[in-house]
Amino acid sequence: MSEAVRSLGTYYLQTYGCQMNEYDSELISWMLEQMHYAPTDDPATADIAVFNTCCIRDNADQKVYGRLGEFKGFKRDNPNQVLAVSGCLAQKDGEEFLQRFSQVDVVVGTHNLTEVPDLVQRVQRGEGRFVRVERVGDSFSLLANPRNTHSAMVTISMGCDQWCTFCIVPYVRGKLKSRPLEQVVSEVKRVVREGRREVMLLGQNVNDYGRDLTPKKDFGDIIRALKGTPGLDRLRFMSPHPAYFTQSVIDALADNPATCGGIHLPVQSGDDEVLKRMRRKYTSAEFLDLVARMRAAIPDLSLSTDIIVGFPGETEEQFQNTLELVRQARFRNAFMFSYSPRPGTPGNLFTDQVPEEVKSDRLQRLIALQNEIAVEENRMLEGQTIEIMVEGRSKKDATRLTGRGRCGRLTHFQCEEDLTGRLARVRIQKAFVWGFQGELEACESRLGEWSLVPPAPSIPVVA
Ligand code: SF4
Repeated sequence: MSEAVRSLGTYYLQTYGCQMNEYDSELISWMLEQMHYAPTDDPATADIAVFNTCCIRDNADQKVYGRLGEFKGFKRDNPNQVLAVSGCLAQKDGEEFLQRFSQVDVVVGTHNLTEVPDLVQRVQRGEGRFVRVERVGDSFSLLANPRNTHSAMVTISMGCDQWCTFCIVPYVRGKLKSRPLEQVVSEVKRVVREGRREVMLLGQNVNDYGRDLTPKKDFGDIIRALKGTPGLDRLRFMSPHPAYFTQSVIDALADNPATCGGIHLPVQSGDDEVLKRMRRKYTSAEFLDLVARMRAAIPDLSLSTDIIVGFPGETEEQFQNTLELVRQARFRNAFMFSYSPRPGTPGNLFTDQVPEEVKSDRLQRLIALQNEIAVEENRMLEGQTIEIMVEGRSKKDATRLTGRGRCGRLTHFQCEEDLTGRLARVRIQKAFVWGFQGELEACESRLGEWSLVPPAPSIPVVA
């Protein structure tokens, strides 16, 4: 917000869940700043507090409910505070939020986010409490967060038609709705013109894009249309579905130099029977074949994944098949979870739920294996130099900067100068499960101009 504009007050925003929610939160904060509210880390004194929620996993619900309790106290001391709940959980529970929590003023579902400013102002004028969860008003014409000067997220589709039996997304986000290709391309070009060098294309099932458009399009069309966009250094996307990775999409990614090799490819299980019950539409052999084709086409491919253990009916033997797939696929990183039944999904109705202690034991064994693989994979880069985009200061150590390689790995290095938004070449000194600690060799002094710090030997950039 411009310093010349006097702030009307402060807002506190807490985000739960996935990348889509992060994006929605960017929109919410941008809208609140347009209302001349400034961000604060202090929930007790904020004039507006927003919980952007997720209901994909049970503990996310519980965290939100628990945290809302604290706001009852804040509101006693700060009675003009407006408390809003948005996102998936708001979509799912709707009116129930107002009944259960007297401190909540506004409930806004995933399709009505742009109504937040109006509803907050109506509460401030004393017009009552409001719920908006109708499935209308989806808007793709949203600006990326102006505070992030180097990276932008651009939504290409909303919703999902896959109905995986463990997932609540299609129930709360609705059916696939793709944004016209021309709109996506022109928004990417606009954010790049404004200085963003990295773009993340977002969708619940990003590579199912365009099936609902007339004429039909596919995800490869976007990647091809963005090839050669001046200033677009890094192109990422989240989240694809393995069953929709056609050869044409792989070829389009391989042919666009901006494509980053760090790709997230959620496998969920390595057992064919479990995959079938999850309604995932691929077998473990098909998944591994896809990984091999992607590695052949994209030489710097570095995969991360999602895995659920203890899906209903999963036997020890079936779990072993997941471990075997993990050994073969060699993911750089994995988000690993115990299955948590979500009310309203078919998985919740399966009667052969796996006991909690079995799930927890399997999860520990999976994490131990995946951590071993991640460190082995990361150690292969020790002593080499990677090009990272600097994201800012490390939250744990202000003397260090942090950023990501094209492979998606987090890298920390010591640096006094703030290089946020610039590219830097960093020599990997030590590999960890989460990424690297390195030493700065060179950085851009200005966009596209490199200087060595200090004069460094020329080591090839590998990731
Ligand atoms: S494809 Fe992804 S978002 Fe869609 S139902 Fe399956 S897990 Fe959920």
